[in-house]
Amino acid sequence: MEAKYIFVTGGVVSSLGKGIISASIGKLLQARGYRITIQKFDPYINVDPGTLNPNEHGECYVTADGCETDLDLGHYERFTDIQTTCANNVTTGKIYQRVIAKERNGDYLGRTVQVVPHITDEIKQRMLALGETGDYDFVVTEIGGTVGDIESLPFLESIRQLKWELGRSAICVHLTYVPYIAAAGELKSKPTQHSVKELQGLGLQPDVLVLRAEHELKRSLLDKVAGFCNVDKDCVIQSIDLPSIYEVPLRMAAQQLDQVILKKFGMEVTGEVNLTAWHRFLERRAKAERIVHVALVGKYDLQDAYKSILECLSQAGTYNDCIVKTHFVRSEGLTPETVTAQLACMDGVIICPGFGSRGIEGKIIAAEYCRTTDKPTLGICLGMQMMVVEYARNVLGYKDANSSETDPQTPHPVIALMEEQKSVTQMGGTMRLGASACRLALHSKAHIAYGRQYIMERHRHRYEFNNAFRPAFEKAGMTCSGINPDNELVEIVEVPACRWYVGVQFHPEYTGTVLHPNPLFVSFVGYMV
Ligand code: GLN
Repeated sequence: MEAKYIFVTGGVVSSLGKGIISASIGKLLQARGYRITIQKFDPYINVDPGTLNPNEHGECYVTADGCETDLDLGHYERFTDIQTTCANNVTTGKIYQRVIAKERNGDYLGRTVQVVPHITDEIKQRMLALGETGDYDFVVTEIGGTVGDIESLPFLESIRQLKWELGRSAICVHLTYVPYIAAAGELKSKPTQHSVKELQGLGLQPDVLVLRAEHELKRSLLDKVAGFCNVDKDCVIQSIDLPSIYEVPLRMAAQQLDQVILKKFGMEVTGEVNLTAWHRFLERRAKAERIVHVALVGKYDLQDAYKSILECLSQAGTYNDCIVKTHFVRSEGLTPETVTAQLACMDGVIICPGFGSRGIEGKIIAAEYCRTTDKPTLGICLGMQMMVVEYARNVLGYKDANSSETDPQTPHPVIALMEEQKSVTQMGGTMRLGASACRLALHSKAHIAYGRQYIMERHRHRYEFNNAFRPAFEKAGMTCSGINPDNELVEIVEVPACRWYVGVQFHPEYTGTVLHPNPLFVSFVGYMV
């Protein structure tokens, strides 16, 4: 079957959960046996989100093939177990970079290069690219931003053209918001009507509308919206707030969103949606009662900044039959005087990834506290590096030990720049990125967690454990339990004298999915229950 294209746009306000709806659509079609992929087109001019501040834009997600991408790709993978690639996230920056390179190369032969058709042609080509591989029956394309933004216009124009060219092989799902006016006790559909008008003004007619609301919407309101917006009544679906994002696919299935989509493509609806494993996960989740408390020691006080870590903890909770409650602890504010008050009541601690020097002394203080009080601790990337620095200072006795990221002059650079990184001056996309192999030491905590000796995990960093110090660490009780078999770089450190004190140079949070949780997180939470 030729690939069919589902475009997902959003109106009224941002943060409506377009990523979750896109992931849910992908999930439901996949559960009907179709081969799917999901991609995201972001209207900002950054070439990728790698250079964006997590406090503004949330976490940067990394694909197995080493691209820094939007956090929504994390939802796509967690919901569907697909493996996204560089091709699954396109930004305005990437589009312009390519068009300008072609212009400099003389590819346009004296013509004036314009938004229409040159930018839109480049966008269209990328929108179709994954579908043309023959690997997918459906390509879901989420468009970042909100209809009405200046930046979104070339993307919406591209969808308009594609819908015209592809005929019944392309549909548009538009997500809007229905606010509740408490003083009047009323739910208002007007913003939805305006948002659809805006789309129609651009020549785009949505085929399906998903209305986000905090309160249940009456059938009469959904029908009214259908009438005003030229959309079939059964194509107006509601998406109300749910206790967990993992319930969204079920709520969508209950309203037959998948069937509505298939019918719009003129396809016959046959067979059933198989969500057995998903149901089983949610049932187990609902039964969990016991609560464990995990501190996230980090720099960014924004839920989205540690999105994948939070999701992995939540999944690990379910697989351990407990509920993980997370508590953000600002590393900058941690001192030897305050650390006990902040961490003593926790069942476990995650020392978070990050960049730069701000807050790292707090991470070192947290590492020392956790190690000496034997609290289950997982250090991720910069978190692992600070575990190493702490061990060097307080156990090996190198009082001036540091990462050369923070102190380039330190006589004990236990974390240092890799040789090939030393000449790098450009910031974007120049780190060690993507999946690489790791060999685990037999009977280590990591080996027990993963249950096998070779694993693949994703990276995003410049600095590494300095192998010159490895014998000293091993002798003093910090073992290097994960090693990259290709270059002998240290990937995991552990202190076997502790119950569970593990630091990983990679980011395990990028590979945990609902049906295949990351083993390290499952093991970590398992030590708390
Ligand atoms: N800043 C550290 C490095 O570049 C850690 C990066 C991270 O935590 N992702 O090596």
